[in-house]
Amino acid sequence: MERVFNFSAGPGAIAQSVLEKAASELVCYGDKGMSIMEMSHRSAMYIEVYEGAKQALRNLMKIPDNYEILFLHGGATMQFSAIPLNIMKKEGNADYVDSGNFAHLAAVEAERYGKVNIVASSKEDNYAYVPDVDQIKFNADADYVHITTNNTIYGTRYTKLPDTGDVPLVADASSNILSEPMDVSKFGVIYAGAQKNIGPAGLCVLIVRKDLLVDACPLCPKLLNWKLQVKNDSMVNTPNTYGIYMAKLGFEWLAGLGGIDAIYEINKQKAALLYDYIDQSKLFKGCAQKEYRSLMNVTFVTGDADKDAAFVKYATKQGLVNLKGHRNVGGMRASIYNAMPLRGVEKLVEVMAAFEKENA
Ligand SMILES: *Cc1c(COP(=O)(O)O)cnc(C)c1O
Repeated sequence: MERVFNFSAGPGAIAQSVLEKAASELVCYGDKGMSIMEMSHRSAMYIEVYEGAKQALRNLMKIPDNYEILFLHGGATMQFSAIPLNIMKKEGNADYVDSGNFAHLAAVEAERYGKVNIVASSKEDNYAYVPDVDQIKFNADADYVHITTNNTIYGTRYTKLPDTGDVPLVADASSNILSEPMDVSKFGVIYAGAQKNIGPAGLCVLIVRKDLLVDACPLCPKLLNWKLQVKNDSMVNTPNTYGIYMAKLGFEWLAGLGGIDAIYEINKQKAALLYDYIDQSKLFKGCAQKEYRSLMNVTFVTGDADKDAAFVKYATKQGLVNLKGHRNVGGMRASIYNAMPLRGVEKLVEVMAAFEKENA
C-alpha cells in the first residue's frame, strides 16, 4: 500500500527515510549481529547509540555545555510532575501561563506539590491566542515560570519569549521542538514528548541547565529525579533504548536536511501556503489569531459541523488522513510537523480548493 499524508497531531508523521533505515537495521544493527532492541543498555554497542543521539541533538540545537540532556520515560506529561518535584522549593511557588490544554494540565499537576500562580490565561477566548508576555506580571520570588511554546490543540505559538529575569524559564516544547531556532540559553529547562517532532512515543527529551540540578523533593520518585538521572546517564533504570535510537535517526535526518535553520524555512513555507489559502477562502476560516498562528498545528473550520465532517471524509479518501480537529476546538487541524513534506501541504490545499468549489 502507498503511504498516506498523515496530519496527525501525535504520534505524528516520521520521515520515510528514517523508517526505511530503521527497517534495514531492525534485525541486525550494523555488524553487531543483533537488533538494537536486544542490546544491553550498558553495552558499549548501545552506549555508542545513546551518546550519538545526545551529541546529534546538542549539535542541532546548539545546546551550550552548561546544559545536560536526558532521555526519559513517560512522555511530556510525566515531566508535569517532575518539574515541581525537582525545582519547586519547599513552601515554594511557580508561575504558569495558561495558553492551552497542555499548559493547563501542567499547572494542575504542579498544584499537587505547591503553590501555582496562573499569571495569565487565554482560556476565556478558547485559547485563540497566547497571552502577551509583555503584559504579564511575573512573581520575582517564583521558583520558575512555565510556558508551553506551541499549543498543539489550539494551533497557537509564542512569537516572543517572556523576560523572567533570574527566574528560570521552563518550556514544554513538545510540538515545536526542532521546528524553529530556539536560543537554549534563554531557558532553564526545555522538555518535549518525542511523538511529534522527534520519534516514537514514550520518550521525553529534557534539556536542563546544570545549576537547576539541585536536590529534588524527598518524595520525588527516583525515575523523575533529574540530578540522579544525569548522574546515571538517563539510566536509573532501563531507558527506552529503541525510542532513543529512533530519535537519533530523526536527528541525523534533520541534520542531513541542513538542520533547524533549513527546516524552519521549509516549515514557514508550508504554513504560509496553508494559511494563505485559508485567508482567501470563502469556506474555511482559521481558528487562531493571526499573530499567534502555529507553524506546526493549523486549526480551521467551515463553521458548519456537518461540512467539517464531510471535508475530513473527502480528504481521507484522497490519502490525507487525521485532519479531524481536537474535540475542544472542533473543525479541522492539520499538523504539519517537520516530517510532513511540502508536497503533502500542497496536496491539502488542492483538496481544500476542490472541496470548496464543489460546495460553493
Ligand atoms: C502532546 C503534548 C503533550 C503530552 O505528551 P505526552 O507525551 O502524551 O505526555 C504535552 N504537551 C504538549 C505541548 C503536547 O503537544
